[in-house]
Amino acid sequence: MEDYPRDLLEWEARFSSEAACEEYLFRLRWPEGFRCDRCGGRKGWPVSSARKDQWECASCHGQVGLTAGAIFQDSRLALTLWFRAAWWMTSQKNGVGAMGWQRILGLKSYKTAWTMPRKFRCAMVRPGRDRLIGQSRPTRHSWAGKRKGCTGGRGKPKP
Ligand SMILES: [Zn+2]
Repeated sequence: MEDYPRDLLEWEARFSSEAACEEYLFRLRWPEGFRCDRCGGRKGWPVSSARKDQWECASCHGQVGLTAGAIFQDSRLALTLWFRAAWWMTSQKNGVGAMGWQRILGLKSYKTAWTMPRKFRCAMVRPGRDRLIGQSRPTRHSWAGKRKGCTGGRGKPKP
């Protein structure tokens, strides 16, 4: 099933809300429905009714976050921002400077604009190892996958 937006308009429409991003991540992680990492239980529910980013297993009550292992795991930025950044990362061959990132994402922090693409690059140069299970298009999805051993870029941002 081809389920990936083809252009920026489609992308923005598709991932216009946190809920839409969460739903996408859910299907990426559990294409056949929820499955507990710990006990293999197939029944689970979102911990919060407002957000569906954290799921609890009905059998063992273990919790798993949709973004666990993803480059935006500990980020305070909205998922919609990360998703938009992902579009630019995967569609721009020549790269976008930190200033460009600030404009595209409406970021106030230059440091965030500087580190964000580095996290993506780090995740995207490791397809295969980092992709989520069952994905047939690893390079497109690897940014939402694991980031073992990736520190998010070296050095410090230049002012
Ligand atoms: Zn469980």
